[in-house]
Amino acid sequence: MTNAAAFEQARQVIPGGVNSPVRAFRSVGGTPRFLVSARGPYVTDVEGREYVDLVASWGPAILGHAHPEVVAAVHDAASRGLSFGASTPAETELAELVIDRLSVTPGSHHLNGKSLVTTKLIDELRLVSTGTEATMTAIRLARGFTGRDLIVKFSGLYHGHSDGLLADAGSGLATLALPASAGVPAAIAGQTIVIPYNDRDAVRAVFAEHGDRIAAIITEAAPANMGVVTPRPGFNAFLADTAHDNGALLILDEVLTGFRVSAAGFWAQDAFAIREEDDGSLHLISPTYLPDLVTFGKVIGGGMPLAALGGRREIMERLAPVGPVYQAGTLSGNPVAVAAGLATLRLADGNVYGRLNDVAEVISDAVDDALTAAGVPHFISRAGNLFSIQFCETPALDYAAVLAQDAFRYGPFFHAMLDAGVSLPPSVFEAWFVTAAHDEDAVSRVLDALPAAARAAASVSPV
Ligand SMILES: *Cc1c(COP(=O)(O)O)cnc(C)c1O
Repeated sequence: MTNAAAFEQARQVIPGGVNSPVRAFRSVGGTPRFLVSARGPYVTDVEGREYVDLVASWGPAILGHAHPEVVAAVHDAASRGLSFGASTPAETELAELVIDRLSVTPGSHHLNGKSLVTTKLIDELRLVSTGTEATMTAIRLARGFTGRDLIVKFSGLYHGHSDGLLADAGSGLATLALPASAGVPAAIAGQTIVIPYNDRDAVRAVFAEHGDRIAAIITEAAPANMGVVTPRPGFNAFLADTAHDNGALLILDEVLTGFRVSAAGFWAQDAFAIREEDDGSLHLISPTYLPDLVTFGKVIGGGMPLAALGGRREIMERLAPVGPVYQAGTLSGNPVAVAAGLATLRLADGNVYGRLNDVAEVISDAVDDALTAAGVPHFISRAGNLFSIQFCETPALDYAAVLAQDAFRYGPFFHAMLDAGVSLPPSVFEAWFVTAAHDEDAVSRVLDALPAAARAAASVSPV
């Protein structure tokens, strides 16, 4: 079977031939590859062609595809039953592991020779099945906790596809050149205030006007759904501080960054707020700067449908069955998904994150060099091991700047890479994802393909 035949057949029975719009090649053109298997850093399509994969299932595959220990854990769990609709000890183990990962213990972190005082980011975790559910629930919980309705969201950031969060929601919509989704009632869209990212004045203005009606600010720890955009230094801490000054919550969406850019998430790298007290002790994230709710997805399920939200006990215990905020899921905490997540997180040690960083650095530097050599104006935007190309010379720090780049250069670049056996995200508005399984052979296949792709990007003119 060819990819073209598979796509044609799919289009008869699946809208657009895809079950998630980002998989369609709408912005780069051509035929999506239909995959049949994946192993380590490679994916294989229906035609038997192998590609070095820089999509990694949009993030989860940090260890590479079909890691033998993860697959064994999944087999083992599956053999004991696919779903019970009742609690399992493994769910508690996963919650404990995540809560522990998000804590900083004395002596384990140092800054300028001083050790940091223990801080726990979250006390409790609720497992759900998708990132969309995690952020949707976080919003409902923030509203239930504060008794307020309004949500502040940044343009270009993606928090899943629930009604209130689809305005200016980054990659998927940007790729299709849609400002917002049809089918969202105006009354619901009107509860979300959308402002430019990295813009402190816009945040201050919105709180000056609506401060006592805002339940929460929701933000990606590092935006990576309009390509990678980095928060200006201190921006996340500023958001927490501003929210708290106004009796609102900060929801930190780490669905993409959590457990991918570090053993915890971007917040741990971001020095969210390292504060020096009068006695000289250093406190990572003083309570003022703590996010109140954190959402996870992607890596936490190791490739299976699993996501989560966590927060302080007083907030989390507003959730049913303890509190009045309802949330539920037939497959929540599914034993097979939990097994995949636990195995993945347990294997993701310092060596894995070291390898992810090294691979990201080698590849992103090589992209940078190839585009420079080809004379293409560009900036490589990086947040930890996530990166993407911006076809503009100065870093784009908000959605307007991201949309203003020479996005037309990406299609030819993408297809030159694909022809050379490298699978990139099919949109300039997506981050590239490396895995710890990208060995020298896989990396050199990427590096070898770059010069011709950069020349393809150079040769195209706007349509
Ligand atoms: C992917 C993503 C989501 C949505 O997760 P799904 O599992 O696709 O529903 C939410 N927030 C961010 C930051 C994401 O990257």
